[in-house]
Amino acid sequence: MAKPTITELRAACRGQVVTREDPDYEFARKVYNGMIDRHPQIVVRAVDVADVIAAVDYTRGNELGLSVRGGSHSVPGFGTNDDGVVIDLSPMKGIRVDAASRSVRAEGGCTWGDFFHATHAFGLATTGGIVSTTGIGGLTLGGGIGYLTRGHGLSIDNLLSADVVTADGRSVVASERENEDLFWALRGGGGNFGVVTSFEYRLHPVKDVMVGLFFFELSAARQILEFYREYIATAPEQMGAFFAFQIAPPLPFIPEKRHGETFCLIVACWAGPLERGEEALQAIRKAGPVAAELVAPMPFPALNSAFDALLPPGLQHYWKASFATAISDGAIAAHVQHGPNVPVVNSTMHIYPINGACSRVPAGATAFAYRDAQFATVIAGMWPNPADNERNVRWVKDYYAAVRPHSESGGYVNFMAGDDQERIRDNYKGNYERLVAIKEKYDPGNLFHLNQNIRPS
Ligand SMILES: Cc1cc2nc3c(=O)[nH]c(=O)nc-3n(C[C@H](O)[C@H](O)[C@H](O)COP(=O)(O)OP(=O)(O)OC[C@H]3O[C@@H](n4cnc5c(N)ncnc54)[C@H](O)[C@@H]3O)c2cc1C
Repeated sequence: MAKPTITELRAACRGQVVTREDPDYEFARKVYNGMIDRHPQIVVRAVDVADVIAAVDYTRGNELGLSVRGGSHSVPGFGTNDDGVVIDLSPMKGIRVDAASRSVRAEGGCTWGDFFHATHAFGLATTGGIVSTTGIGGLTLGGGIGYLTRGHGLSIDNLLSADVVTADGRSVVASERENEDLFWALRGGGGNFGVVTSFEYRLHPVKDVMVGLFFFELSAARQILEFYREYIATAPEQMGAFFAFQIAPPLPFIPEKRHGETFCLIVACWAGPLERGEEALQAIRKAGPVAAELVAPMPFPALNSAFDALLPPGLQHYWKASFATAISDGAIAAHVQHGPNVPVVNSTMHIYPINGACSRVPAGATAFAYRDAQFATVIAGMWPNPADNERNVRWVKDYYAAVRPHSESGGYVNFMAGDDQERIRDNYKGNYERLVAIKEKYDPGNLFHLNQNIRPS
């Protein structure tokens, strides 16, 4: 069969088809992680499913590499490549809330900011990321951890269906009733199985939440970690709270003379009845010496964009991640040794709880296998100056090496680095072989390989 030409691709697309001669090329080729500097042949800025089909057919027909990009937050930079094709879904931001059935359908280019903006108007939300600029696409397909995980599960636990363009250029529905195997694989298997052009999610009544940002004295880090592991095991499931090491940014509620100092934090989101929020946060406030705090009700989308200013596009990113079934004393010792060395204000280490509703889903029910883990840890190196790469990458690697013996062998695919491909099998534990079989069925040629790749057998 004749290979599709670029002229045919342009004729088939309503969205922009950007090539190297195009004035928009420099912008179009870039992703969020400033460390990634790649030059694809073509970026298709898809506006609809037909554009996606045309781009998939073109790429397959010309045997090129393919990146699929939604919010562009992939830390390994899977959203761009050298000499291949990029399908950029960011123009596809259609979103429709069905308040009566408490569900929403959102196109693959939506960010969590777009998503919560739309659902908040109806007093509804579901589990999404903690930063508004992250895409719903990549985040959901890897699992989806956020403030609402303990109460409502991962993002994938709220996924009702997906429209998917598969490697052979067909658009299919994946749900509990249609293409069930594909639906199973999409829920945690990342971008391995096709281009999801729209996602349908279950929503929950979440509108305004009580937020608690507690900056504890660093000298109490051990005590706060010991408190956190006990507290979060049994806290009401309306409480989403993660532990962090963080350099204090110049925020008005932090005494000015302490800006730039390192603290340990608990960031809490109470999504239960607002009038019980202050009381619910009391236990956290009493955990140790508080140097600064912000306790306030706020619209859920406001919390979702609270960290955006710290994380502009273009920072250098290098991350490492692991799951843990418990925070052992050994893990605490490793955190207390390395967390306080966080090099810059943008970098951080977060321990997210994934107990509660998330851990009630059986390990084989979706591709996301670590349902027995209680925590997802990420050491997120993020810094502005490429000249500092060595120092910052070293901090992440040393920290990870210290935590690793106290962690599970697998980690959350969405928090992992490009050099973590050898851990893929570990990430999926007992679900790996089934994922390989589904990959073989839907993408035997591994068209979708620029991701944490599950190879066909
Ligand atoms: C600042 C920041 C904050 C984060 N916070 C969280 C958080 O709170 N919770 C959490 O769980 N994760 C979080 N993450 C990790 C995040 O889940 C991953 O980086 C994820 O890949 C981002 O998705 P994206 O669509 O923005 O990225 P992209 O780079 O656009 O996509 C990443 C990969 O996902 C696949 N993909 C994306 N969209 C589609 C689609 N529609 N169809 C098929 N494949 C697709 C592709 O393989 C693509 O290469 C965060 C990341 C960053 C950088």
